[in-house]
Amino acid sequence: MVRDTGRIDRQRCIELDRADPLAPLRAHFTMIKGLIYLDGNSLGPLPSATPARVQEAMTVEWGRDLIGSWNIHDWMQLPGRIGNKIARLVGAGENELIVADSTSVNLFKVLTAAVQIVRRDTPDRTEIVSERLNFPTDLYIAESVALANGLTLRLVDIDPEEGVDAVLDDATAVVLFTHVDYRTGRMHDMSSVTRSAHAAGALMVWDLAHSAGAVPVDLAAAEADFAVGCGYKYLNGGPGAPAFVWVNPRHLAEPQPLRGWLGHVSPFEFTPEYRPAVGILGYQCGTPPILSMVALDCGVDTVLAADEYGGMDALRAKSLALTSMLIELLEPVSAAHGLRVVTPSEPSVRGSQVSFAAPEGAYSIVQALIARGVVGDFRMPDIARFGCVPLYTRFVDIWDAVEHIRAVLDSGEWREPRFAARSAVT
Ligand SMILES: *Cc1c(COP(=O)(O)O)cnc(C)c1O
Repeated sequence: MVRDTGRIDRQRCIELDRADPLAPLRAHFTMIKGLIYLDGNSLGPLPSATPARVQEAMTVEWGRDLIGSWNIHDWMQLPGRIGNKIARLVGAGENELIVADSTSVNLFKVLTAAVQIVRRDTPDRTEIVSERLNFPTDLYIAESVALANGLTLRLVDIDPEEGVDAVLDDATAVVLFTHVDYRTGRMHDMSSVTRSAHAAGALMVWDLAHSAGAVPVDLAAAEADFAVGCGYKYLNGGPGAPAFVWVNPRHLAEPQPLRGWLGHVSPFEFTPEYRPAVGILGYQCGTPPILSMVALDCGVDTVLAADEYGGMDALRAKSLALTSMLIELLEPVSAAHGLRVVTPSEPSVRGSQVSFAAPEGAYSIVQALIARGVVGDFRMPDIARFGCVPLYTRFVDIWDAVEHIRAVLDSGEWREPRFAARSAVT
């Protein structure tokens, strides 16, 4: 990867794309001609392999082999097999991670398990601690777990300079953080935060929604306790793809609270009493959505395809080159229009997205960009967000996107009333 991008112009971007060792990976996706897709952090694009594979799962496996497919095509093992693939992306071991349910549901399982473990020895620990600006579902679920267990959810504002030690104490049972912030793209130091949680006597739960497949993650090295993550963002699993859950082997004996029959040690014995499966299989609940699993499998493969070209290290290097360039190119535009780039300029604490806050009209700016074929997204209250995914984003895309941002702001076209109308999904 080229370190010093020198003076950037469009020609230079084209040269960087020509020299990009990861460039062949773009062919693994169905990219729409003329569209600059900078929203893979919200919904990864369709992998080229997915339609045929899902078609096969429908016509051959479901259509022809019918219920026999649970055995013939190993449907039952799919959640664990995909889980083992994702494990390689997040520093987890074999059979420690499984694909199941949604991120929200998995959070309920791991938070409850963590609370049970801590409270067994230290029942006076009464708080789950999370960040006020964490993704709302994480807070809602943490609140559900708190309500169900007689605890309180304490929301904190972390000063990155001060770290987290100051906000943890002997009332803290469990700390729940999202590794990469969905608005700003700021990334926590996983090892350091986990160490602080443990030093305070608490367990550490990580949400990897904006990390898995996007940045290097090493759950084992960080000695984290539990993690969950999302299948439809950087893992390209498709809309509503199932999520994943990881449990440190030292906690695998702890049962999770949602006792479904697929978490039973032997579902087909149909016993009236529940006996949890040993290990991560016990984190399943109901029947896995096979068609969605098959699509997620293809999505995860697009990330693993980078192994041939330097793997996560190469992805990270290109991701940082893309986001650094975007931040740099946004500087003069920001100065002219009062935008504030809220993504850290320091690479080591940056995920794989760049966001700016706009003094007014962030939503309309994003809509005007979409009308021009540059797809980012808006997040409340004033954030425009752009995912830079090294698997398929080109340097020239970044250049062209900034040209469009500049044009939308210089011309004031974002003020047109048609860009103010809000849809249900932003
Ligand atoms: C996207 C995202 C989720 C999604 O949760 P679902 O249950 O899959 O809808 C959860 N947490 C964070 C931090 C996210 O970014």
